[in-house]
Amino acid sequence: MAHELKRISTRIGSIAESATLKVDGKAKALQAAGRPVISFAAGEPDFPTPPHIVEAALLAVSDPKNHRYTPAAGLPDLREAIAAKTLRDSGLVISPSQVVVTNGGKQAVYQAFATLLDPGDEVIVPTPYWTTYPESIRLAGGVPVDVFAGADQGYLVTVEQLEAARTPRTKVLLFVSPSNPTGAVYSPEQTKAIGEWAEEHGLWIISDEIYQNLTYDPSTSSGQAAEQRAVSIVEAVPALADRTILVNGVAKTYAMTGWRLGWMVGPQDAIKAAANLQSHLTSNVSNISQRAGIAALTGPQDAALAMRDAFDRRRTVIVAELNKIPGMVTPTPQGAFYVYPDVTGLLGRPWGGVTPTTSLELADLILDQVEVAAVPGEAFGPSGYLRFSYALGDDALLEGVQRLQRLFA
Ligand code: GLU
Repeated sequence: MAHELKRISTRIGSIAESATLKVDGKAKALQAAGRPVISFAAGEPDFPTPPHIVEAALLAVSDPKNHRYTPAAGLPDLREAIAAKTLRDSGLVISPSQVVVTNGGKQAVYQAFATLLDPGDEVIVPTPYWTTYPESIRLAGGVPVDVFAGADQGYLVTVEQLEAARTPRTKVLLFVSPSNPTGAVYSPEQTKAIGEWAEEHGLWIISDEIYQNLTYDPSTSSGQAAEQRAVSIVEAVPALADRTILVNGVAKTYAMTGWRLGWMVGPQDAIKAAANLQSHLTSNVSNISQRAGIAALTGPQDAALAMRDAFDRRRTVIVAELNKIPGMVTPTPQGAFYVYPDVTGLLGRPWGGVTPTTSLELADLILDQVEVAAVPGEAFGPSGYLRFSYALGDDALLEGVQRLQRLFA
């Protein structure tokens, strides 16, 4: 008898759909069907891409030279612009040959893990984590090792916790500041302490810096004063440069989620290996997006700063309003555009005839009863939390939280 072969491989069959995209897709489908759903689901700015970036793309699309392949690792001018941005914001001197341009930050995340991990290599993952990291690690044959920090510690892991998780198989520390899903930002001192610990133990760092330009002043509720910078871990500990891959992109800073333009930066050997992988996987990113990316990085930054100020304003509103709900504890985030309330105080009690016992059930309940979409904590680690993105319009934001206040009154 013929040997029964699985239709879908074990490796791919074990991957769950991205929970953030799933909730976002469900909310958008309900909206398209005419439901007045307010979605705090996807981390996606509501603003259009700034006009000078769109104009660069319009020019690019009519120029035949952009109808061809570029080098798989990206246009030389864009890699140059990314090198300049990396020096400006991450304090790291690199050459353009240390850059691979990717289809969004997500491809850079996957390629970084694929480039570094052998089967069984462990990656320390500060938790709550963005839903895609553990899947990327497992796809690359690695083992994610969660280190949890709750609301009580500002969602920031300590060196002691990291050290307790380290084993002889630990190869990489994932570092994300500002964090998705919590918006937490490590202080320069905390970043330096973690970097020095990683350096001492010869670990690699994969640092996701996609939210690096979205930070807010920790001492005021709205950012009139200078904001707290998210200092890059390679700036805090320059000796790490030879074992660090930085991941970044234009999506969040320039409202360009749909353009799919990210990048990875690192030491020559890792970048060359990642570029080889990408040359078989996707080749280059669309020329049009690359040209738009040059305009974003080298052009005026005022539109990006104005969007940041709008997020800061919304942050103030959403934290204040959610904290009026008894049973929700919402720390004030200092970066990105997410709040991450602890909702355990709402579980095990009836709301509109339904008693949720997990944050997954609570997320279903608020969508069913008041048509508000948020991503449950289960997507990012333990149950007991909801993630709200505040990258949506001011009016919708206020209406959404008021619906929750009425439901949980
Ligand atoms: N990174 C965003 C989020 O967390 C976009 C969705 C995704 O790619 O996961 O919502």
